[in-house]
Amino acid sequence: MSLNHGAILKPGSSRNNKTGNWRNARPVYKHDKCTGCTMCERICPEGVIFQEDKKKFNVDLDYCKGCGICAEECPVKDIDMVPEEK
Ligand code: SF4
Ligand code: SF4
Repeated sequence: MSLNHGAILKPGSSRNNKTGNWRNARPVYKHDKCTGCTMCERICPEGVIFQEDKKKFNVDLDYCKGCGICAEECPVKDIDMVPEEK
């Protein structure tokens, strides 16, 4: 049996594996103070944040891993990490 079975081996590979079932927290945009700096979109290791409008970003929750980097790095704290209900 392969030791790598089910392992996520490289950044961005969760694109191929839906994460919704095991994520512990999800990013929620407040859409309140966003300056449109694009930091969240550029820093997400999974590449699952996308721009909807000049100052409006969102995340594809089917593939977000819940790492919290986007919320941590947003300079105006426009993203909250909210625990997933299990
Ligand atoms: S928590 Fe944020 S940075 Fe992490 S995978 Fe999800 S959208 Fe990307
Ligand atoms: S990091 Fe924050 S301010 Fe910058 S684009 Fe994302 S939500 Fe907007």
